[in-house]
Amino acid sequence: MNEIFLETLGALTALIVLWTLYSSAIRHKVETQPGSRFLIAGFFLIFLSLAIDVTDNFPNLNKYIIIGDTPIQAFIEKGLGSLFGLILLAFGFQRWLPAILELSLAKKNIKKLNSRLEQLVDERTKELSEVNQQLRLEIKEREKAQSQLDKQMLQDPLTQLPNRYALLEYLEHERLRSTSQGSFQAVFLIDLDHFKSINDSQGHSFGDKVIKAIANRLAFNHRSEDFLGRLGGDEFVLVLPNMEGTTQEAALQTYNNATAMHELIKAPLKVEDQQVNLSASIGITVFSYNSTHSSEDILRQADIALYHAKDKGHGLFSFFQPEMQKKAQIRVEQAGELKNALKNKELYLHYQPQVNQQGQVIGLEALLRWQHPTKGSVDPQHFVKLAEEIGIIDQLGRYILRMVCQQCRDLASFDFPDNMLKVAVNISPTHFLQDDFIEQVEKIISNYALGNIQLVLEITEEVTIGDVDDLVNKMNTLKKLNVHFSLDDFGTGYSSLTYLKKLPIDSVKIDRSFIHELPHNNEDASIVTAILTMTRSLDISVIAEGIENDIQYQFLDQLECQYYQGYHFGKPDSIHALIQENHLIDQRKLKPISNDVNHSKSEN
Ligand SMILES: [Mg+2]
Repeated sequence: MNEIFLETLGALTALIVLWTLYSSAIRHKVETQPGSRFLIAGFFLIFLSLAIDVTDNFPNLNKYIIIGDTPIQAFIEKGLGSLFGLILLAFGFQRWLPAILELSLAKKNIKKLNSRLEQLVDERTKELSEVNQQLRLEIKEREKAQSQLDKQMLQDPLTQLPNRYALLEYLEHERLRSTSQGSFQAVFLIDLDHFKSINDSQGHSFGDKVIKAIANRLAFNHRSEDFLGRLGGDEFVLVLPNMEGTTQEAALQTYNNATAMHELIKAPLKVEDQQVNLSASIGITVFSYNSTHSSEDILRQADIALYHAKDKGHGLFSFFQPEMQKKAQIRVEQAGELKNALKNKELYLHYQPQVNQQGQVIGLEALLRWQHPTKGSVDPQHFVKLAEEIGIIDQLGRYILRMVCQQCRDLASFDFPDNMLKVAVNISPTHFLQDDFIEQVEKIISNYALGNIQLVLEITEEVTIGDVDDLVNKMNTLKKLNVHFSLDDFGTGYSSLTYLKKLPIDSVKIDRSFIHELPHNNEDASIVTAILTMTRSLDISVIAEGIENDIQYQFLDQLECQYYQGYHFGKPDSIHALIQENHLIDQRKLKPISNDVNHSKSEN
């Protein structure tokens, strides 16, 4: 019984192993693996042998099973079956085991690779995470920088007040908001008077502190609904929005504000323990957003009003009026004409003689003329001021200097008293105060052999507006280039006496306003006497301008005035006319002539 059980168990075990192998081969598709077929076949034969072994115990089954008739045959069959089965198993294992080992090795390698891959993925993930974090930081910084840039775009860095862009945005915003309302608004353009002199004399750092102090003062005193900004330099803007009432009421409110603002700016200011006294010119425009004017138009109107206020003097305010627009338009046209005149050489020079006490011509003053193609002669004072305003004064100045040098070469062959002829050129203070003025003069005069021509620059007291030491250095540098200086319009400024001692001046020109009523006007006579006494003690020569008659000349001659200029001695004329009329050759013909009082006012 035990035998049957053991044989059956053996057969079943072989069957289970066979089935497991077969189903695995089918399920995992490993039937192509080396040795797997041998293993299946081997186990099958062993199972068959064991199964036959079991059936041996049941003789009735013999008729169903093909098996040897004798026990020996049966044994041989079972033995052969088992033997073949084992041989097949041996073949199978021989091939299958290396494959299993290979597989195991491959699995190990795969595991290793996986682990390396995971490590790489971790490292890469970490790197990406760091890059991501860095990118986020950069984006944040960029956003911050952009926001700072946006802020800077709309903010004045010195005062932190809104700038011009912000003002235009504000006006546009208010326009959209207020379309349906009928209220008035006012724009004030506030420009500090003579602020450049503070920068020039105390330095830009001090000037910046003054600007900040004024900005704080204005900011502290305006209402929260008003717009206060700085447009650059010494120019501020205030917008009063939504003024209710009629036009007159709005204008009155604006007037009161402008007055208050003047007082505010005029109040003494202390910067770095120094007291600064300021005033401002204010241009005002009152408008309604219902009008068709753009924000730029509104600002232009306020600008025109400011120009008008400054033109009238300083510390004043002016409301925009349509007539101003017309004047501004004319000014723009004149500016264009002047630029063209310079380009088309419509400007030319006349020269007015300067004589000594013997009537000998010792010098000439070059006087600029503009013959406009349609308007005729244009007043030089007017267009020189215009050239300063439109920023071409240096161009004009260089043009004059070049023309003087060119034309005076023609005089080189003449004999002059002291073998020298002084040729004076009027220099605008704005031009003289330019940083490269010395280089400009040097460049021009180096191109001309002036021989016995002495170049004299006529400057006015306005050049003393900045640092006097700088001015003295500048003048001394120019003197080394053989340039002399004459102080023009002497006596009309407020600081003449102070600066006369400091500046390296060769001569002064007594302003014609003191000469005109000589000798009857006692006050003028006293001033002229004082000037002559003082300049004599300082060893500075004097030219009296605007001599129109012999009485004036005789009076000044008695006071020992050295040099004279005026219609009494010669009108301004072209250099060729002066030569042709022998004014420069036979100088004694220029001796004073009596009863010549009907000449018109002499030139600058
Ligand atoms: Mg002059």
